[in-house]
Amino acid sequence: DEDAALLARQDEDYDDEAEGRLNPVLAIVGRPNVGKSTLVNRILGRREAVVEDTPGVTRDRVSYPAQWTGHNFTLVDTGGWEQDAKGINARVADQAEIAVDMADAVLLVVDATVGATATDEAVVRMLRRKKKPVILVANKVDDIQNEADASVLWGLGFGQPWPVSALHGRGTADMLDKVVEILPEFSEHGGIERSGGPRRVALIGRPNVGKSSLLNKLAGSDRVVVDPLAGTTRDPVDEMIELGGRTWRFVDTAGIRRRVHMQQGADFYASLRTQSALEKAEVAVVLLAVDEILSEQDVRILNMAIESGRSIVLAFNKWDLLDDERRRYLEREIEQDLAHVDWAPRVNISALTGWHKDRLVPALDVALESWDRRIPTGRLNAFLGELVAAHPHPVRGGKQPRILFGTQASSRPPKFVLFTTGFLDPGYRRFITRRLRETFGFEGTPIEVSMRVRE
Ligand code: GDP
Ligand code: GDP
Repeated sequence: DEDAALLARQDEDYDDEAEGRLNPVLAIVGRPNVGKSTLVNRILGRREAVVEDTPGVTRDRVSYPAQWTGHNFTLVDTGGWEQDAKGINARVADQAEIAVDMADAVLLVVDATVGATATDEAVVRMLRRKKKPVILVANKVDDIQNEADASVLWGLGFGQPWPVSALHGRGTADMLDKVVEILPEFSEHGGIERSGGPRRVALIGRPNVGKSSLLNKLAGSDRVVVDPLAGTTRDPVDEMIELGGRTWRFVDTAGIRRRVHMQQGADFYASLRTQSALEKAEVAVVLLAVDEILSEQDVRILNMAIESGRSIVLAFNKWDLLDDERRRYLEREIEQDLAHVDWAPRVNISALTGWHKDRLVPALDVALESWDRRIPTGRLNAFLGELVAAHPHPVRGGKQPRILFGTQASSRPPKFVLFTTGFLDPGYRRFITRRLRETFGFEGTPIEVSMRVRE
């Protein structure tokens, strides 16, 4: 049927997409009727995206493989999703936002013959927050007389407006030259920047769990202290440590080594340090001490790591102090208080003796590999197709929301977007998340599943 055909087409487009390295993404945003679909057709050089004179027509695709002067990129089209009901400004901006989040650069299309409207302004405000490169397209400049209309749009604050006529092709070549100039070679969208240097690890945990002991054990004599970057505060210092034949960057270790014993504000200081380390890290080793009862502070720190979107390894430290009674408690704590991170690899260690310290690297590798992973769109939709066929969404009030298709919008951590015909029950969404993990693994990384309803 229609959906199957749609999924099959998605498969074809993404088949040659090498796993991991993605073409850069260009999002086309703007209010209805400014000519986004016409511009998409122009860029694709074919009449695929349906252009309708009436706004509000729903199309069935969002992204297209595109090319210009030998540069490949993915075009994400936000045209045709809109409804013409009330509240349109916010909705246009909302819908544009998801596309912008997955994009490396944005084409903001404005109708030069109309000028900037309130809806345009709502999109502009959203774009300012996002801080992604924006190319401002003044569309419907069909001839030289209209070029003056375009110059008014300097006022939007995105620099030079590019006067084009999507309909006739006027000016689009220059605009596309600019597009490929600012797009990166591969997509960096949504994910946390991967610099290519040593992987960045944060050791976190409440005071006295054994962070500095573990750091010392791991570092041995191979420790290299890296100066803080210019412009940052004096405190955070990274250390490069050889483990398993590779170099790892342990971030913000100064805060661990500089033993702070404050009576007051210690918690606050610890939280700040944790937050700052998480921001710089790709993976967090969350230390818990097994000789003491799991505390609220332990759980709070763990949750900070989850919320930061970093990959996670749980290290149960002071294993040498574990007795039978504590062991029974610990099992219960893991089941009850740590159930929400049952996806994180666990290592039992003793920072004091060095016992099992070699288990850390394999766990870090697993977590980082999951964090980086990208499921090709074709495979994801094959999975969704089977899942939905076997377990359709329950009917609610005579309606049954359908999943049209899904895409992994970003990695580090993996984030999925499902395009649906109605709101999915939270329970059904959890079911999909669980099946995603069962099928694709993702051990050690948080994943996110969101939906976009297209009515
Ligand atoms: P979207 O809602 O932003 O996707 O806008 P469409 O691409 O559907 O275009 C809306 C209307 O504007 C259609 O009637 C198009 O033919 C017309 N249009 C689009 N681009 C141009 C252009 O460059 N010049 C003129 N004159 N009309 C255009
Ligand atoms: P931090 O505050 O998280 O950096 O914790 P420290 O590394 O300073 O450790 C706090 C205390 O726990 C110190 O007295 C350590 O010697 C002790 N400790 C750390 N790890 C272990 C361990 O694996 N076993 C035992 N028995 N004690 C440990």
